[in-house]
Amino acid sequence: MIKRACAVLLGLTLILASYNVSMGWGVWGHEHINRSAVFALPAPLRGFFFNHIDFISVEASIPDIRKYTIHDMNEGPRHYIDLEAYGDHPFDVLPHSWDAAKAKYGEKTLVKNGVLPWYILEMQDKLTAAFRHRDKTSILFLAADLAHYIGDANMPLHTALNHDGQFTGQQGIHALWESYLPELFGASFNLHVQAATYIDDPVKKTWDMLKESHSLEGTLLGTEKKLLDTWTKQKIYVVDSAGNIRKNKYGNARFSKAFAKAYYDALNGMVEHQMRASIQLAADYWYTAWVNAGKPDLSGLDDRYTWRMNRKPMHYQYNLWVKKGKLVGLKPDPEF
Ligand SMILES: [Zn+2]
Repeated sequence: MIKRACAVLLGLTLILASYNVSMGWGVWGHEHINRSAVFALPAPLRGFFFNHIDFISVEASIPDIRKYTIHDMNEGPRHYIDLEAYGDHPFDVLPHSWDAAKAKYGEKTLVKNGVLPWYILEMQDKLTAAFRHRDKTSILFLAADLAHYIGDANMPLHTALNHDGQFTGQQGIHALWESYLPELFGASFNLHVQAATYIDDPVKKTWDMLKESHSLEGTLLGTEKKLLDTWTKQKIYVVDSAGNIRKNKYGNARFSKAFAKAYYDALNGMVEHQMRASIQLAADYWYTAWVNAGKPDLSGLDDRYTWRMNRKPMHYQYNLWVKKGKLVGLKPDPEF
């Protein structure tokens, strides 16, 4: 069952790999966020999620597959919010609830500018209901999806109108930051975060998360701009003998490793910090949904054989994550 689900998801991931995408974290990032978050859960919940950890990991990229391969028109706006579309002080004017925001701006405007924060809250409510009904399929599907959108919210360019540096001559920065940097330097990240904690006010937490993420936009863009202004094109990009910039399989400009390293170093840990924030928050949101559902006992949702088979691997992987902040079992295809 687990293997079959993985085979289906692997197939979808391969389909995704053939499209030109900008995703929120790239496959490397999303899969590592979802998988790490499982280990931050308290014991009873962690065990159940670990029984399905391969599904939770690979499913991390499915919301992007819905967007790019199935062309689900509703999917796109769920991954971002263009905060600058609401003026210089978006956090002062944007209502936190969907109904109030709709009354103020109209649904068309909200959808055009992205619905990420409201969709996170909608998914959180749905996950809570799934826990309450002890609906295994929905719990796993919704938890994995929710963590994807939380990951997107922590990618600062998903909160920004200038989401690929298109207004500042920095096209390509989106994929550079979210896909190439984690691919190049992610092996050094410490993915261990604190045990999941209960969120008293998910609405406030969601908007605080966006505020925090959005506050990094200026540094993220400005740091690269400084480097772009001082490096030559031949040093910034991978160029062929005719001087043309090489592209990756999605059509994104390929930055040189030297440039990526200089940018990564100048960001001073921002990528790792945002990835760790995504992991922590994903675990916190999952845990909060379970608590609000009345802490249902999930042990009966898997058979005794599954629990027994996973006991040792979970113990090993949990300790590795706690002591070294590392994961095993993930091998996403490189995107660059
Ligand atoms: Zn996304």
